[in-house]
Amino acid sequence: MAPNQIKKGDEEKISSFLAQTLSVEYEKILKKCESKTKYEIVKKKVEKPDVDKILDFIHSNHILGIHMVEDTKRYYPMSNMAAQTIGFVGGDNQGLLGVELSYNKELSGVAGKVTGVQNAKGGPMPYDYESYYPSQDGNSLVLSLDSTLQHYCDKALDEVMKVRKPANRCMAIMTNVNTGEILALSIKPDFNLNDPFVLPPIDQFPAIEGKSEADARTAVWTNKAVSETYEPGSVFKVVTGSAALEEGTMTLNSTFHCNGSCVVDDRKFGCWRTSGHGSENFTQAFINSCNPAFIKIGASLGPNLFFRYFSMYGMTEKTKIDLPGETDSIYVKEKDFTPVSLASESFGQTEAITAVQMISAFNAVVNGGYLHTPHVVNQVLDSNGNVLQTIGSQTKRQVISETTSNTMRGVLEGVVKGIDGKGTNASIPGYRIIGKSGTAQKLKHMQQTGQKTYVSSFVGAIPAEKPQYSLMVLIDTPTDGTYYGGTIASPVFAKIMKEAAPYLGIAPEYTQDELEHISAIVPACEGMSVDQARGKLQRSGFKNVEVVGSGGNVLNQTPKTGNNVSRSNKVILYTENFENRMIGVPNLLGLSQAEANSVLAGCGLNLSVENSGVQSQKARAVSQSPSPGENVLRGAVVSVEFLTDDETG
Ligand SMILES: [Zn+2]
Repeated sequence: MAPNQIKKGDEEKISSFLAQTLSVEYEKILKKCESKTKYEIVKKKVEKPDVDKILDFIHSNHILGIHMVEDTKRYYPMSNMAAQTIGFVGGDNQGLLGVELSYNKELSGVAGKVTGVQNAKGGPMPYDYESYYPSQDGNSLVLSLDSTLQHYCDKALDEVMKVRKPANRCMAIMTNVNTGEILALSIKPDFNLNDPFVLPPIDQFPAIEGKSEADARTAVWTNKAVSETYEPGSVFKVVTGSAALEEGTMTLNSTFHCNGSCVVDDRKFGCWRTSGHGSENFTQAFINSCNPAFIKIGASLGPNLFFRYFSMYGMTEKTKIDLPGETDSIYVKEKDFTPVSLASESFGQTEAITAVQMISAFNAVVNGGYLHTPHVVNQVLDSNGNVLQTIGSQTKRQVISETTSNTMRGVLEGVVKGIDGKGTNASIPGYRIIGKSGTAQKLKHMQQTGQKTYVSSFVGAIPAEKPQYSLMVLIDTPTDGTYYGGTIASPVFAKIMKEAAPYLGIAPEYTQDELEHISAIVPACEGMSVDQARGKLQRSGFKNVEVVGSGGNVLNQTPKTGNNVSRSNKVILYTENFENRMIGVPNLLGLSQAEANSVLAGCGLNLSVENSGVQSQKARAVSQSPSPGENVLRGAVVSVEFLTDDETG
């Protein structure tokens, strides 16, 4: 506002209008109208509809002295999505967090700023990040983040938040194994980029309790994958194991014996299975996640070679990801190595690294040995869409040979199949998966508080034979009483990948056994003759059909059409009145798949296994729908999730 241009007598009219439109105090504006200075700022960051109102007011009342300086106000249409990674700008449009900060230089100096998002196939996404006032001059960023994959991760983590109640957040990162591109990075709880100062409720992030508001905000904004270290636990065994195979200090035929613990110098290291794993080969040591075996594997390398691979896998340097605030890892320097520190680092305890370091190293283990620089921005474009800069795949070095990497893929596929080969919580029917879980006790937290807390994770990739996409799930300090990575992080991996794989164009290939149990949509049979219905069911793969009643036409059916159930389920066709055939659903929680099946069959109900990748007899029902006691029609489907108590460290 230029007060010296305002016509005498207009001051009150202007003040009253602006006060109402901009929610600024009338008195303050009036004072500015009467000021002798050249310019007075009434309000910054005015929304477009208010700008239009003011323009209208100026024109219809022939007002002089009100000027609007074009300004950009960033609007983030996807609000919370990838908040810590996208970041936001301050009042002066300076980037304060995420790519808004790391690419501030590319984005600043021009009026408009646009952040573009595309999907993995390069096509535009339905929602784009764009500035509220697109400018002719604005550069834009094309992120590697894919909003669909991001959504799958977000959805799964929302569930983790509810069930595991992590005290110190949870996270999922998906990457392209062969380029280092980050395709999704979800951290929960998050915040709304349009309102970044509003903190999530304290029960979603108990670790911030007692912190000042500023510190709490910083904690919420912190990119957990980049700016925080964690102890990787057994996931780290992929580093130790692959180094030993590469150097030939171990082979697939190496054998170990675990009696539940081992002693190094004066320190006793326990295996998570206190009774011991007995004798085991290299792959079994991985499947069992046996600590004493990995202490041996680390010792076979010795401090020099161990540290050499530790460094080559990128554990002693920043990854140089294009996000701000990357933190340094914490580890014992080579010269300070003792047999005890070598032992504990060999199985992933005592060293603290970032999640991006870990997933980058994991990618190198399985992609032929190549360590890439991770990145979240693929391109910088000018306003006409010309590419100003391309951030392609950058290979730092080859850490292990293609041959060793191939061997490791075989070992890690064995890990996901489990010791009995019947699948673990990370398994997905139709897919060959490689991966490793980890559970690390938070030693620093233990020293500070005396409480035993854990960080649980799983890192895996598909497809096993030539991995393309990797996913890491990390749950920091679960408080619901469970904490093994294999029990709580692996199922989240399976949930996300089950949706992501077909989206990424990786089609399932079912084994014969899987095919027989594969689920299909139950076709509609009501109104048909019994013979017609039987034929239709047969063609859809449902061979187990029961007809109830002596009528000729199907009046009702269970499961209802549209249900997605295993083809081994029985379909019941009712040809008579069925209203008295309601049954209370039994409680299946804690039962094995076979037990649940027999209980349900006994009362004429059908079982649908939600995560049918886990065929292990040790798996137990952890959730069911409908709930116990609900009344359903005979033949209805009860959907049950079975998980193994995969207590691998
Ligand atoms: Zn063991």
